[in-house]
Amino acid sequence: MPDPVCVRCRGSLRTPETAGAWTCDAHGVVEPLNAALPAEAYHLADSASSSAVPVWMPWPMPPGWAVSGVRRTGGTGPSRAVAVAFMGPGVTARQAELVIVAEEPGVGLGASYAGLESTDPGFEVASLPFDAKLTAAGHPTPLWSLPVSDRAAYVGEAGGLWLWAIAWPVDEWMVVHDDLRLVDVRAPEHRALLAELPVALLSPHLAE
Ligand SMILES: [Zn+2]
Repeated sequence: MPDPVCVRCRGSLRTPETAGAWTCDAHGVVEPLNAALPAEAYHLADSASSSAVPVWMPWPMPPGWAVSGVRRTGGTGPSRAVAVAFMGPGVTARQAELVIVAEEPGVGLGASYAGLESTDPGFEVASLPFDAKLTAAGHPTPLWSLPVSDRAAYVGEAGGLWLWAIAWPVDEWMVVHDDLRLVDVRAPEHRALLAELPVALLSPHLAE
């Protein structure tokens, strides 16, 4: 396995053995981010069993879409952030990509995929009207769109954790909509899905 990188900038890290904690020269102590893995069922199952946060999967999968990778933070402890990628036919683009991140506040994985410098969206977003909505673990979940130019980025909160949805290219924002239903594949009743999911090649944006 390649060495983990900084969750915020993908730079190299000093290890707990040499620095006392995973440390980035630019960002200080950070969660270590592991390499993106292809969406084989066993990688998804490993991520689900080692995660402290939901591993979100759209189910039913939108027509033509497939899961295209998983990426998690964490050294020896449980993941505080997990990203799952999907690819499918866009409305305007031949191929669109979607990355869904669940994370504890302060980690910064979702923000890094959204192209933001911060770790969190800022609590002021929740004072604005929401822009989109999906269903996460059966709960209607409002999402706010963030001002980034080359992709569509949404963030909301589910169970006290951030839920990010980032889509490429930017005009494929409509992949996030009212009928998108996410299930947490950590839940025993959803584990069987992992063997049924359509799988695509590793998403390039997930691996960045
Ligand atoms: Zn960094």
